[in-house]
This record gives sequence, structure tokens and C-alpha cells, in this order.
Amino acid sequence: MKISAVGGYAAVGRNMTGVSVGGETVAVDNGIRLDTLQMYDGETDVLREKSIEELISMEIIPPMNRLKGLVAQVISHGHLDHVGALPINKPSVPIIANHYTTELCRKEYREGDYFSVGYNEEYEISRDLSVEFVEVTHSIPFSSIVVLHTPEGDVVYASDFRFDNHSRIAKTDYKRLREIRNGNPKALIVESTRAWEEGKTPSESIVRAKLSDVMEFIDSGLVIATTFSTHIERIQAIVDEAEKSGRKILIMGRSFSKQISLGERFGVLNLPPGAQIFATGKSIKNGLKDIHKRDDYFLLVTGHQGEPDSVISRIADGRLGFKLKKGDSAILCANTIPTPVNVASRYILETRLKYHDVRIFDNVHVSGHAAKEDHRYLLDLLKPEHIVPCHGTLEMRSNYAAVALEEGYEMNKNIHLLVNGGEVEI
Ligand SMILES: [Zn+2]
Repeated sequence: MKISAVGGYAAVGRNMTGVSVGGETVAVDNGIRLDTLQMYDGETDVLREKSIEELISMEIIPPMNRLKGLVAQVISHGHLDHVGALPINKPSVPIIANHYTTELCRKEYREGDYFSVGYNEEYEISRDLSVEFVEVTHSIPFSSIVVLHTPEGDVVYASDFRFDNHSRIAKTDYKRLREIRNGNPKALIVESTRAWEEGKTPSESIVRAKLSDVMEFIDSGLVIATTFSTHIERIQAIVDEAEKSGRKILIMGRSFSKQISLGERFGVLNLPPGAQIFATGKSIKNGLKDIHKRDDYFLLVTGHQGEPDSVISRIADGRLGFKLKKGDSAILCANTIPTPVNVASRYILETRLKYHDVRIFDNVHVSGHAAKEDHRYLLDLLKPEHIVPCHGTLEMRSNYAAVALEEGYEMNKNIHLLVNGGEVEI
């Protein structure tokens, strides 16, 4: 069996790992690197105008053409750093994911031969290979730990996850993971983004409490909140708190509109009856025009990283013709993803908000990624023979390796730190 590091083995994003057995290769995930993309965005429509080769050399998409003998593309969950390169790489093999993720991809990238598979069903890729999706908690609905069943043993792919036993919309199927351990899994390919963090990642229920705490503190002025458009459970918590405050809820931004309709269709999101959604620039402008008594309104808008063309950035710099005032509040239900581009964009946004004397409630957030003790727990659940840390810088993956060393694994014997373009035979 060969495991190939295609993308995501030098930085966060553009994830793709290849698993090859008996001449057949499965690609897992096909993501984009968001911070690099954002760096070039605005200058030109990079994704449409550049060639695949250019996008690879700009480190925006993974070089899928490096994988030989491709028989299937498997997708773990719907985050852009795991699916965003699908419309560019256009896999000519079946694209296999669970129902929600398939729908999300199909909506966004129409082309492609999609196959949707329920949790714990098995999809036969070929005579020798099959794939199964095991439910796990993360920060987007219907995330999966992917299990590839091969004649040489199971390969488990856990990127991304956290263990949240208090989630309202998802659970981790610990029972199935234990059953997989009984089959002596050959390898675990596992995310590393927060393996440096001590302890366990807190539950999403903590964000609900943080939000409630902040909202009790705000009694006047306009409230503008922002978060990840794919984070359906958090959106639910935000609109629930907004509803409790008696304010009118306006949701603004194209990505919110898309993700919310998907969440509602799959029964994981329930918007309060009066909430209104504005997707296009024109309708957003009109929606803002109707705000007269600002104490009565709660806005949920795009732009948690301060992206220059997001709604909150356009409100803050006056492009939407709406003026922020002293006494307004901004609740940022996201952390700053620590890349230089994001740090710079968020700094600009916050500076503009402060210029208008807006109160800022930052970091009403918990991570969607596993910390050290979550990782130790997964290792104990699965007891894999080999470990390949993925999704992260060398430093992040070394931090994961340190946890595995503590658990009795050995470097280069059964812990394999790969670089993009590298591979390991096990
Ligand atoms: Zn993710």
C-alpha cells in the first residue's frame, strides 16, 4: 500500500491524499488553499482565468495529475479546503461523499459523477476497494471519518474532526470506530492543525453560552454578527439568541443564502419565521436602507476574516451606503485564522469598526479541530498500525507526531511525516 501526500502537507489548505493498493488509487479530498487564493483575489478572477498548472504553482490547488491509476475521488466534508478544487481539477472518476456533502458540491460545481452514500453504508469502488463514511463532529454538518476497506487492511482518514458530545446536530459514532479498531486498521491519516493545543477542544454549546452572555450585555444600537457560512450549528445559535433579544433578523451575503437553504433542507437548521435573507448586493443595499430604528435589528453578515468584499467589510468602509454609529456592536463569531493575509484583513476591518466607535466582541468561537487530548482519544479508539499526520504545516504535523510518540509509536517506523509530493509504502 502506498500513501501519497498531494496537498496539505506544507500548509493549511488544498488537502488531497492518495491511497494506492494493487495499482488502484483513491484520492481523498480536493481542496483549495484559501489564504493564498485571497492574496490573488481582487486582482483577477484567479480560479477562472489561470490554468491548472498556474494554480498548482501558486499553491492554490493540489496537483491531482500526480496520482496514477485513479479510480475514485472521495470527499470527507464540505469545507472549501477539502472540496474547493473540485471544479478546477474536475475528477473524471466517481466522486463519493455522504448526502449533504454531495449536495453541497453538486450545487456549487454541477459537473462530476457524484455518488452519495449514507453513514455506515459501504460503497464498492472496485472489486477490491470500498469506502465507508463514519459520522463525526466538526464545524459543518455531516462530516465524516472516511474508511477505505482494502485487501491490505483499512485506511482511516480523519480530517477534519473534534469530539463534541454536546452538539445539537451531530454525534460521533464511537461504536463504529471501535469496531474498525477490531479489524486492526493499517493506517490513520489524521489532521494536525491544532495538535499543539493542550487539552480538549470545547463543545459548540460553549459558543451558545458565550453568545447569550454577550447579548445580555447589549441593550441598544445595531448588532452585527459574523461567522462561517457553513457553520450551520453556530448560525442556529446566533439566530436563536437574536430571536430571544426580540430584534428583527437580517441575514446578508450570498454564501449564507446558499448554505442556509442546504441546512434547512437537511433538517439541521431552523430559522425563526421573521428572519430575512438578502443574497445580492442590490438587495443587501435595500435591506440596509430599511433600517431606521437600529436598536430593533440584528444583522448576520459574511466577513469573519475581514475579507475585503464581504458584507461586513463593505458596511464598514461605506460601500453599501450605510453608516455605522457609536453604540453599535460587532460580534465576531470566529477567530482570526492565523495566516498573514487573514491577520492583515481582520486588522483592517477592526480598525474601520473602531473608527466608527463600534463595540467589538471578538472570538465568540471555539475551534472545529481536535486538540491534543482529542487526538490521543482517537488513537486509543482506533489503534492504527501506521500514522500519517496531514492537513498542516510541518510544525503542526510534528506536534501531532509528538502525541503519537507519547503513545508508543516510533518516527519513520510507524509515524510518517510526509511533504507535498512525498509518499510512503507501508
Ligand atoms: Zn473542515
